[in-house]
Amino acid sequence: MNILISNDDGIHAPGLHALAKAIAPLANITVMAPDRDYSGVSNALTLDKPIAVTELKPNWYSISGTPTDCVHLAITGFLDFEPDLVLSGINKGANLGDDVLYSGTVAAAVEGRNLGLPAIAFSVTEHACKNFDTAAIIAKNLVESLMAKPFKHNTVLNVNIPNKPLQDIKGQKATRLGYRHRAEPIIPTHCPRGRVFYWVGPAGKGADVGEGTDFHATENGYVSITPLQIDLTAHTITPTLANWLKGIAND
Ligand code: MN
Repeated sequence: MNILISNDDGIHAPGLHALAKAIAPLANITVMAPDRDYSGVSNALTLDKPIAVTELKPNWYSISGTPTDCVHLAITGFLDFEPDLVLSGINKGANLGDDVLYSGTVAAAVEGRNLGLPAIAFSVTEHACKNFDTAAIIAKNLVESLMAKPFKHNTVLNVNIPNKPLQDIKGQKATRLGYRHRAEPIIPTHCPRGRVFYWVGPAGKGADVGEGTDFHATENGYVSITPLQIDLTAHTITPTLANWLKGIAND
């Protein structure tokens, strides 16, 4: 079995190394990850410049591009084999609810799925996480389970792991995405030459965090596994929109 591993925190991120170390005994792994932290770039593809690939050691490649570039390159011609599975992470920080639309971690997995491969994104719920051991064990167990009993659905699994020691993890739950309140305000900073620059503020606190959501599971000590689909259509609203359009003069 061949497993492609990427992330958005960059090729030197401890979460990536923990994931690769945990998965290496299970399969042939290839790591292709950005040469810098590309958190929050979503599904960006680099189209206005060429992309450099640097082999750091056998099967480890540093890429001058986004997480999506990494997986796209790997599957559409750089590798001379087709991976059986794409893994992304382990991200430093949660990817819950609306986060999945901004996340480069989830995007790398989505790119794998878009190109026809099963894919999983892994995140630990706190930015302060320095110890990825628990998350790596959970990732390894999940991949082993999938190898033993394939889960054949056209989906990306978005896995969020509480930042806790393994003995404090209560189990795992299949969840849906919750959502957040509006993001916190921007943060202005003054440069020595008089200009004001702005930092994007933190994500909003959880708003839809009830039972069944990814927020609720992780808050209560469970690993959250959300199956993601790419179809963002609000299917229940399509007939209402069609009716509304009928009432509009088109001249
Ligand atoms: Mn990240």
